[in-house]
Amino acid sequence: MILIFLIYGLFIGSFLNVCIFRIPSGMSIVKPPSSCGICGHRLNYIDMIPVFNYIINKGRCRYCGACYSIQYPVIELLNGVLYALTYLKFGLTVNSILYCAMISILITVSMIDMKHKIIPDSLNIAGAMAGSIFILVNKTYLTGIIGALTGFGLFVAIAILTNAMGGGDIKLMAALGLMFGLKGTLFITLFSFVIGAAVSLFLIVLKIKGRKDEIPFGPFISLSALIYIFFGFEIIRSYLSLFM
Ligand SMILES: [Zn+2]
Repeated sequence: MILIFLIYGLFIGSFLNVCIFRIPSGMSIVKPPSSCGICGHRLNYIDMIPVFNYIINKGRCRYCGACYSIQYPVIELLNGVLYALTYLKFGLTVNSILYCAMISILITVSMIDMKHKIIPDSLNIAGAMAGSIFILVNKTYLTGIIGALTGFGLFVAIAILTNAMGGGDIKLMAALGLMFGLKGTLFITLFSFVIGAAVSLFLIVLKIKGRKDEIPFGPFISLSALIYIFFGFEIIRSYLSLFM
């Protein structure tokens, strides 16, 4: 079962690469079929086996020899491993499948936000759909709606105060609030700012970014949501035990 989740995750990861490339330029994610970005040769099934294809062709196109970005196998592997870990933590449940869907959305959001500094509405809508199904399956209507309103409200307030938060971040937090409820929303908000501050400081000290540079916030929200999925319960429990 772990292997099934892993392999399924690798193939979905391969589809995420298509989404990361095509969504920002407004292309369809289903048509046309995948082809080499350099020579335009149509890829057949054997060329689309995740990771494995990259290794046997040494990261090159089989037809024209162009080098492919390491991003392709990394995204595939990341998505596959996270699917397998989701199965290990939550078993074969509807929630596992919904968490996997949200994880894939967050990976895509992070990559597009890093490359283009936008979070496309289509991905936030997909996240809100996964969150809504989660609410219906788990009957967490109240906490889900409060979570969404809190995520939305907090980030609108932060956007007004700092002038540095985009509309995409606000909508993403609302979508995550649906799935993770009030507790999860507060956790993700806090962690995203702690991680964001640490990473920004690091980038500025190393002079990779200047103080005036815009640093996309979507990846910090996404990473915090992943931490919440896998460790949130344990972190909150050990934090509370400090006081009891
Ligand atoms: Zn080619």
